[in-house]
Amino acid sequence: MTKSLAANISVEELRELDKKHYLHPITPLKQQQAEGPELIFKSAKGLRITDVQGNEFIDGVSALWNVNVGYGRQELAEVAREQMMNLSYASSFFNQSHENVIRLAEKLAKIAPGKLDVSFFTSGGSESNETAFKIVRHYWKLKGKAEKSKIIALENGYHGVAMGTTSATGVPVFKDMITEVAPGFLHAIPYLTECEKGDKSHPDYERSLRGIIEREGSETIAAVIMEPVQGVGGVNIPPEGYLQAVRDLCDEQNILMITDEIITGFGRTGKMFGVDNWNVVPDLMCVAKGITSGYVQLGAVMLSSEMRDEMTELSDGPMFHGFTYSGHPTACAVALKNIEILETEGLVENSRKLGEKLFQGLKYLEENHQITADARALGLLGAISLFKDRDNREGFDFDLHAATAVVELCRERNLILRPLAFGMEAVAIAPPLIATEQDIDTIIEILSDAIKEFEQKVL
Ligand code: PMP
Repeated sequence: MTKSLAANISVEELRELDKKHYLHPITPLKQQQAEGPELIFKSAKGLRITDVQGNEFIDGVSALWNVNVGYGRQELAEVAREQMMNLSYASSFFNQSHENVIRLAEKLAKIAPGKLDVSFFTSGGSESNETAFKIVRHYWKLKGKAEKSKIIALENGYHGVAMGTTSATGVPVFKDMITEVAPGFLHAIPYLTECEKGDKSHPDYERSLRGIIEREGSETIAAVIMEPVQGVGGVNIPPEGYLQAVRDLCDEQNILMITDEIITGFGRTGKMFGVDNWNVVPDLMCVAKGITSGYVQLGAVMLSSEMRDEMTELSDGPMFHGFTYSGHPTACAVALKNIEILETEGLVENSRKLGEKLFQGLKYLEENHQITADARALGLLGAISLFKDRDNREGFDFDLHAATAVVELCRERNLILRPLAFGMEAVAIAPPLIATEQDIDTIIEILSDAIKEFEQKVL
């Protein structure tokens, strides 16, 4: 029997109990039921995470792109403990409040771009985007334009797994789970900058944001939502000028612009927020993940006080929207400390600086392997695509699961990365923002080794 690091229980017993009682998120049921969980984690510190058998891995994707300040920070544990002892829970319903939520809302207002100075709190990314969808519809309804309710998202965009966010998501597999999604969500082809600026001659114009708005009528569209850099859908960085073109289009058509900063917020892309890379200010900005570096659950939707004031003017009753854990005291305390760490340790700058090194490393992979292409990184959010024949952009057979296979070979070498396999195969790299130059070198070396072994198998 393999000895586990857990007290009084073997690894085999843990696996069996997992199989028996745990329905995992985004995990093939057959695989879990046949093999049990692939990894059972036990502890983590910095960039390194250890499983119950004592194997230590470099976490090259910050878990789910969220552990921005790294694992095992004593400061965060201490503020959580203190908060739980002082005020373990307080509701913000019915015009109640508490100090940490007030301080966090103020802090976010200071670091957010433009006039985004008001926050609504949630427990995560999906809840933040759901809230944004309801706020924009509510806003137009208050203004006497209830028919302005459709939301346009981008193909390959990912916005979460609740009903509205599943409907907004533009990665098809997330919708295949069910037969019907929520009405009122449309999808445009991303990054057609010229179309968004007004060029109708492009063959895909009708599927651009502008083309869809023209077809549907702007009086039926509440908002556009997009990630500043698409994450799950491939780590797709928009071309220069795209976000500004969307901002201008939204202004011209009287449509609200929502950015989903769930991955890109809090330093991931080398700026505090993804939109800061292009100096674009959305009307609503959704955050989660890096706001607490994953230590506790928290998300937020930010909007301007002007928009809040307009809604105040037009409504007498409450906004009938709120989660039990909106503004949870412990989550807010941890978020405040987490943002302080990002600032005092210069982690946003580190992300920017090391992002260049990561990009160089990915370029090296592109130059030194036959199957690699499209090296890309913005801050510490990067990826490399895998092609059977990159010159003709011919992908591998789906059954080969190329990205998953390469990630598996990395894991054998004690590095955790993430396969992206929705349409195009790629490997994502997004280490905690505390990474060092040495860490980036190690990640690239291991990934290079893994790609080499995969090439030997398949070419
Ligand atoms: N938006 C984006 C861009 C995301 O990457 C995610 C999570 N991967 C979500 C929304 C959903 O967040 P959550 O899983 O916290 O609900």
